[in-house]
Amino acid sequence: MKIKVKNPIVEIDGDEMARIIWRLIKERLILPYLDIELKYYDLSIQNRDRTEDRITHEAAEAIRHYMVGVKCATITPNEERVKEFGLKKAWPSPNATIRAILDGTVFRKPIIVKNIPPLVKTWKKPIIIGRHAYGDIYRSVEAIVEGPALAELRIKYDDGREKVLNIHRFNSAGIVMAIHNIEDSMRSFAKACIMYAIDQKVNLWFGAKDTISKTYHGRFRDIFNEEVELKKKELQDGGINYRYMLIDDAVAQVLKSEGGILWACMNYDGDVMSDMVATGFGSLGMMTSVLVSPDGRFEYEAAHGTVVKHYREYLKGNPTSTNSVASIFAWTGAIRKRGELDKTPEVCKFANVLERAVIETIESGVMTKDLLNLAEPRPERYALTEEFIEKVKERLERTWA
Ligand code: NAP
Ligand code: MG
Repeated sequence: MKIKVKNPIVEIDGDEMARIIWRLIKERLILPYLDIELKYYDLSIQNRDRTEDRITHEAAEAIRHYMVGVKCATITPNEERVKEFGLKKAWPSPNATIRAILDGTVFRKPIIVKNIPPLVKTWKKPIIIGRHAYGDIYRSVEAIVEGPALAELRIKYDDGREKVLNIHRFNSAGIVMAIHNIEDSMRSFAKACIMYAIDQKVNLWFGAKDTISKTYHGRFRDIFNEEVELKKKELQDGGINYRYMLIDDAVAQVLKSEGGILWACMNYDGDVMSDMVATGFGSLGMMTSVLVSPDGRFEYEAAHGTVVKHYREYLKGNPTSTNSVASIFAWTGAIRKRGELDKTPEVCKFANVLERAVIETIESGVMTKDLLNLAEPRPERYALTEEFIEKVKERLERTWA
């Protein structure tokens, strides 16, 4: 008997090895157990090219409509990929497009298993990184200053007012950069972090450098404080504690903490710190990611890419050992959220049971190659891509019955 899922989930397919494991997961671990309507969007590079990327926009709109989506990793084409696939052009990153349409914030969360100890001994629970994914140096304007010059910052308001700030009087060569951010985007970021901390029942930390950048970083801090104040009651009811810290202090505190925190980061801090945290917890194959919009839309995915090196081996007919855990958890994240929104606890329960089956499979010593050297004790052999998924299925069958 399959469990009926009340409302659809938006399914976004992708590329290369990620697409191969995607299909295995769906056919072996999801569809045999759930009676679910999937709104399918094929974001393979070929289909994005064929539709001139319309499909990506349609997929994002579908998530806006149905509230929950699950996405496979996709190729972000560069010049090499344009040649490889004979593309009309280097289409933009689907993740960036979807993030812009949903105005979302990305949260990365590691999956923890007992026999893969984090590099940091004190870490016991996940550290979730929330990265503000708009502006700052990622939308900067920069220039080389070739010799003696006056650099100024000019703001021309539409109503005719003007403000000119002196950046630096250069007596010799140098460099200059201007960055910006937008009030609405900063507010959406704060809102999404607060919503996700409540959702995950974890404490919320935000760090910036407002002692040095009193206006720019200071504005981030103030906006965060204002949004926290507006949600004070929900945060209190959930037992969630909010702390603002200097970014240096936050880094030190995170390393000493036992985890169980949502660490909200400005764009650059999030970029850097998410790689630190991912490495600290083990493999990219164990890192999930969710895009949360301030109006409560959720898109789940694995944090890794399409694992192209493994795909090249797969195409040659060679055996592969690609970790499917993050992709499985993308599915369970979406399924659990669907169950919560639909108020169907049996759907949430299925997601929990499947996650348990994955964790117990690894804890029993069955794991893919990427985990082998991290595991204590180290198993004698690693599982192949399909084999790992079949082992999870066996365990799922036992508990589910
Ligand atoms: P990647 O696919 O994440 O793979 C980088 C390396 O990390 C792999 O070669 C592999 O190392 C290891 N790895 C990653 N995921 C793994 C898994 N599930 N199981 C085992 N090992 C795993 O990054 P990439 O090779 O730089 O990028 C490939 C394509 O993915 C690019 O076209 C890029 O645009 C795209 N991409 C998409 C997303 C997304 O859609 N969210 C994110 C990042 C990149 P070994 O080879 O040593 O085994
Ligand atoms: Mg990075």
